[in-house]
Amino acid sequence: MKYHGACSCSMCRTEFETDLPLSDFQPRVCDCQYCQQNLGQLLSHPSAQIRVFAGIASHLTANKNGGTAARFYHCKNCNDFICVGVEIDQEMRGVLNSNLFNDRATLGDAIPVQPRFLSDQEKFDRWKKLWSHLSFMS
Ligand SMILES: [Zn+2]
Ligand SMILES: [Zn+2]
Repeated sequence: MKYHGACSCSMCRTEFETDLPLSDFQPRVCDCQYCQQNLGQLLSHPSAQIRVFAGIASHLTANKNGGTAARFYHCKNCNDFICVGVEIDQEMRGVLNSNLFNDRATLGDAIPVQPRFLSDQEKFDRWKKLWSHLSFMS
């Protein structure tokens, strides 16, 4: 199944493809200042595919948050937080902001996470396990 979402101005559309029912997913709500300010709920699963229909250079702003290589992508037009992406073993992996989801009410309850207590290496190891495959299609 493919689940869709979009930013407020609809310039950046998103797709989350998975065989699992949406109610199996619990988005993670990160307690760092960045995620709190940008109303992020992070959704990923290693078996799921995330597609963002937006060009990295043309439609998105990439922000850093902390010392890791992960980039937080925002719509260039409405500034909505879209997803986080990082390259792991030559492949883009990422999490989607499920606040942009049309079907977000179907998701399981959100769980709070505190990645600021993890080292950068621990974060990286966690992403490798949890994050989805991410692609940008312009
Ligand atoms: Zn937008
Ligand atoms: Zn955060």
